Amino acid sequence: MLSDLEFDRRHIWHPYTSMTQPLPCYSVSRAQGVELQLADGSILVDGMSSWWAAIHGYNHPRLNQAVSEQLKSMSHVMFGGLTHRPAIELCRRLVDMTGSELECVFLADSGSVAVEVAMKMAVTYWQGKGQIRHRFMTFKHGYHGDTFGAMSASDPENSMHRLYQGYLPSNLFAESPDVIFGGQWQEGEMDNFADMLERNHTTIAAVILEPIVQGAGGMRFYHPNYLKRVRQLCDKYQILLIADEIATGFGRTGQLFACQHAGIVPDIQCMGKALTGGYMTLSAVITTREVADAISQSEAKCFMHGPTFMANPLACAVACASLALLSENRWQQQVADIELILNRQLKPLLNSEYVKDVRVLGAIGVVETVRPVNMAKLQQFFVKQGVWIRPFGRLIYLMPPYIISPEQLVRLTDAIGNALSEPEITFG
Ligand SMILES: *Cc1c(COP(=O)(O)O)cnc(C)c1O
Repeated sequence: MLSDLEFDRRHIWHPYTSMTQPLPCYSVSRAQGVELQLADGSILVDGMSSWWAAIHGYNHPRLNQAVSEQLKSMSHVMFGGLTHRPAIELCRRLVDMTGSELECVFLADSGSVAVEVAMKMAVTYWQGKGQIRHRFMTFKHGYHGDTFGAMSASDPENSMHRLYQGYLPSNLFAESPDVIFGGQWQEGEMDNFADMLERNHTTIAAVILEPIVQGAGGMRFYHPNYLKRVRQLCDKYQILLIADEIATGFGRTGQLFACQHAGIVPDIQCMGKALTGGYMTLSAVITTREVADAISQSEAKCFMHGPTFMANPLACAVACASLALLSENRWQQQVADIELILNRQLKPLLNSEYVKDVRVLGAIGVVETVRPVNMAKLQQFFVKQGVWIRPFGRLIYLMPPYIISPEQLVRLTDAIGNALSEPEITFG
């Protein structure tokens, strides 16, 4: 019989990996607070929050309790024709937390599906207004998920549009924002975006973007004025604005939602990842009454979407508990403390000849190297250092759970420093 790891290697796909030449995997047996325990007993400090999700840490008593309480009454019922307290309470909370104009909520299964739903809402909105509009405009270097609609709005090179040419809708990509957050703003930065929008606005259904932080497409932080100008231009040409807050939402950037850095409210907002505190998959799309009304005027007179596991009660219950924890507002101090330490510990790495840039915003720290890292070797190095950091391309980045202690955080930043002093491993 194959060992578990051998079976995994031969039969199970992992994210973005080859089935024939997979990178090694580490088996986790437990996760507690900010620590992952591997099957061999070793303990790793978690720098990833399981891809932006586990903001309150693992095995949290209040999140556990929410799931086990909910389990006693029901784990799931269909949402067609039925409703329940966990969904209602969650949507009440989301309506309260987001901008005052956002009030109609659609619950979906994952981030990518939320993006599909948002794009479908925009197309259906225009149908309701008697127009056919199928194009979306965005910036280069975005990431919106791995389903086809989401891919079609993600960076054309990173998401390899070439591979699916002819199958992907062709959308419009403006040059990506390169003024860094906190940098000097120059009005000319918007020209490319503004020109493209002006030339094409009669065919565009919506602008879709990640507010302030472009995540998986390059971990780039851009100036809030971009977002302000995009909002103004969308208003000018009466185009919808979709904010994909799936990575940035729930405090990660230092504001509850990243759009608040620019003081703007989108017409449609996607949320996911940290929504359930990293417990299970759930996403939400929230929009305005105006958009919902137009959709109800469309040919079908309704919004034609309804996943089997829509509003799963277990997921909704744990999301309510996670948002309740957030509403106690400790996250603000936690994220500010993390930001301070990341700045203090990571900025000196700029002195390394292997480092091109260091960026910190809220509870996100990014070290951009001059060359792509050797993922397999560097991953192994980090595990030996007792940390869980998952680099990709030229990016070594941290987005730890908000509850991380200063000592744990310094273990993570020290491990990155150590990696940079072992270039034959890191880049080898
Ligand atoms: C992760 C992510 C998605 C996709 O979410 P999944 O739950 O992985 O489908 C979409 N948009 C952004 C900005 C993301 O970071």
